[in-house]
Amino acid sequence: MEKEPITADIKKILHDTFNSLKEDVIIEVFTKKGENDAFNDATISLVKALAEITLKIKPAFYSIGDEIAKKKGISRSPTILLAPDKYNIRYTGSPMGEEGRSFIVAIIMVSTASVVLNEESLKRLAELKEKRAVQVFVSPTCPYCPQEVIYAISAAVARHDLVSAEIIEIFENQDLAEEKSIVSVPQTFINGILTSPGVEPEEFFVESLLTLKRPEIVTGVISDKPVESDLVILGAGPAGLTAAIYAVRAGLKTVVVEKSNVGGQVAITPVVENYPGFSKIAGKSLVDLLTQQALQYVDIHISEEIKEIGKKEDRFHIKTNRAYYISKGIIITTGVSSRELNVPGEKRFWGRGVSYCAECDGYFFKDGKKVLIVGGGNTAATDSLYLHTLGADVKMLHRRYKLRAEKRLQDSIERSGIPVLWDSEVIEILGERVVKSVKVRDNKSGNVTEMPVDGIFVAIGYKPNNEVAAALELKLDEYGYINVDDEMRTSVPFIYAAGDITGGVKQISVAVGQASIAALTAFEDLSNPYWKSPAK
Ligand code: NAP
Repeated sequence: MEKEPITADIKKILHDTFNSLKEDVIIEVFTKKGENDAFNDATISLVKALAEITLKIKPAFYSIGDEIAKKKGISRSPTILLAPDKYNIRYTGSPMGEEGRSFIVAIIMVSTASVVLNEESLKRLAELKEKRAVQVFVSPTCPYCPQEVIYAISAAVARHDLVSAEIIEIFENQDLAEEKSIVSVPQTFINGILTSPGVEPEEFFVESLLTLKRPEIVTGVISDKPVESDLVILGAGPAGLTAAIYAVRAGLKTVVVEKSNVGGQVAITPVVENYPGFSKIAGKSLVDLLTQQALQYVDIHISEEIKEIGKKEDRFHIKTNRAYYISKGIIITTGVSSRELNVPGEKRFWGRGVSYCAECDGYFFKDGKKVLIVGGGNTAATDSLYLHTLGADVKMLHRRYKLRAEKRLQDSIERSGIPVLWDSEVIEILGERVVKSVKVRDNKSGNVTEMPVDGIFVAIGYKPNNEVAAALELKLDEYGYINVDDEMRTSVPFIYAAGDITGGVKQISVAVGQASIAALTAFEDLSNPYWKSPAK
C-alpha cells in the first residue's frame, strides 16, 4: 500500500493553517521518468495531498519534455514552480524533510502576499534597484536551512519585480552542489556569489541582497522604543525555553532573545535517547515540541545579537541589532559552541568537507562516501552512528585508547562495526576545492600517514559562549563557564545562569532542571514575596 505523504494529524493542522490563504496558488510540478523517480513520486503525492486540503491550491503536472517545460527552461526533475503567474520561486528538488516546513510557509506567503521580514528589512529591500537571483542549497535533514529559505522566498515575494528565489536540494542535484564545491548546507548564493555559508541573521541576508557582499556588521536597525520586562532570557536552547515557561507561569513578564536559532546544540543532535519521557527522539523534534510549548507563554526573538549590555541604576539595558530591552533581571542560557581542531586546512575547508554538524551535512556522504569522525565523547559516537545509518563509510578517530562516550553508545559503535583509530590525531586537512585527505599522527609511534577522506566531522567537545557573561563581569571558572550557586544565582545580583554555559554535566535534563531553578529563583528575588521578607 502506498504511504500517505501527510498524516491525518498534520492534515488537520494544515486545514486550519490554510484557512488564512487568500489568493489561489498555482503549483506547477515538472518531472521526468527515470530521473530521481522516488523524489518525483513523493513531490507529486505531496502536492496532490495539499490540493486535497484546500481548493485554493491549483496543482498542475507536466513532463519535462513538454512544450511548457521547454518554454520555462526547466530541465531538472523534480522542479516546482510556486505561483508562477506572480512570482519567480522555484524548488529544484523535492521539498521533503525540514524543507516541508518552508514550503508550507512559502505557500502562505505567496497566497497572502505577506512576508516574514521585519519592517527595517522591508525598508532596506525597497532600495533595491537591480535584479537578484537568490539560490539556497539545502538538504532534507538540515534544521537551519528553512530559515535561509524563508528569507529568500520573502525577498522574492516582497520584491517580485527584481528578486527570484531557487531552493536547490543537494542530494537530487549533486552535480550542482559539486559545481560550487558545496559540502555543507545551507549555502546562499546571490547572482552566483556565495554570500552566506550557513544560516545568518535576517539583516545580513538583506544587506547581502543589496550589496552582493557578506556583511560583517549591520547597524542602524535599533528600534529606540524600549521593551520593558521583568526578565530577559538570553539564549533559546532547552534551558532558555524552559526558563521562559517557568518564569511566565510564575507571573514574570519575560522576553527570550536568541542570537541564532532556537534549540542550541540539541537542534543538531541526530538522536536523543536519554531524555526522560522519550525513549528515542530526533533532537530537532524535541526542540520543536519545546518551542511550541514555550511560544504559548513568551515571544522568542531570534537572530538578535547583543551589541550593548549593562546595568543603570536598578535596571539592565540590553541593545541588540534590532531592539532595546530594559529588564529587572537576566537569565543567561547562551550555551556552548563546537570546539575546533585548530589544524592547518580546517578553516579553509569548512563547508567544503569539514563539518561540525552531522545532522546538517551528513546527507552529502550517504552513498558510501568516506567520513572521519574525530572525538571520543557522546557527540562523536552519536554522529558516527547517525552517519553509518545514512550509509556513509564511517571511521572514528580518537586521541586516546578508550572512548569517553557512554557504555550503550560504545556498544552500539562496536555492534555497527565502525572502526576506531585509537591513539591518533588529525594534524592537517588536505584537498583542492574540497577535502581529499587528512594527515594523521599515531601518538604512540609518532608516525604520520595520509588517509583519503571525503569529509571530516569534528566532534571534540565545546567552548562556552561567554561573551555576554564577560561583558557583565560575572565570575567565570578557569575554563570560561559561569560560576553559579545552588539557586543558579551568578556573582552579580539579579543575573542567573542555566544549562551548558554553567559547565559541568552537559545533558538536556540537567539544562532544563537548572533553568527551572533559575526562573523560580528569579521570581523569588524579583517579586520579593511577602512570605520571604517584610515590606521595605
Ligand atoms: P566531550 O564529552 O567533552 O568529549 C570530547 C571528546 O573530544 C573527548 O573524547 C576528547 O578526548 C576529545 N578531544 C577534545 N579536544 C580534542 C582535540 N583538540 N583533539 C582531539 N580530540 C579532542 O564532548 P561531547 O562528546 O561533544 O559531549 C559534550 C557534552 O554533551 C557531554 O556532557 C555529553 O555527555 C553531552 N552529550 C550528550 C549526548 C546524549 O546524551 N545524547 C549527545 C551528545 C553530547 P579525551 O577523551 O581524550 O578527553
